[in-house]
Amino acid sequence: MSEYQETIFSKIIAGEIPCHKLYEDEHVLSFLDIGPLSEGHTLVIPKENARYLHELSEPAAAALGAVLPRLCRAVLKVSGAESYNVLVNTGEPAGQVVMHVHVHIIPQFPDSGLKKSWKAGSLDDATAQRLSKQICAHLDE
Ligand code: 5GP
Repeated sequence: MSEYQETIFSKIIAGEIPCHKLYEDEHVLSFLDIGPLSEGHTLVIPKENARYLHELSEPAAAALGAVLPRLCRAVLKVSGAESYNVLVNTGEPAGQVVMHVHVHIIPQFPDSGLKKSWKAGSLDDATAQRLSKQICAHLDE
């Protein structure tokens, strides 16, 4: 588990920095992204201090997941978008800038700031069997 250091989001949770709040409960806070990729770009964060999704406790993750569909519905309705991306940048090379777990809800429009690059490879049987065996072996850790 990496060491959590105070972030802009922990300051928002503590009320030290303002945000345009959309939702709050015991475990979760949601607010508008200050640098939106499209209108309605929303952030959803756990109140638990964790840098990465894979370090989040199951109760915190469950609370985060539970509220996502409701927030997505509201963002879709208000933005008028018909599609959206839900994104968790995890680790600097993956684009994470704020080191507190956060989920982006990004309404998709032709001119939105999220451009998809998805270069699919192929999965052969031997690789699939090796990977699934190895990953499954780590699931109880
Ligand atoms: P990341 O690249 O870490 O996945 O995304 C961090 C996001 O946080 C960015 O989209 C950025 O615009 C947003 N952000 C950074 N600082 C603030 C802030 O002080 N307030 C709000 N509302 N959003 C912020």
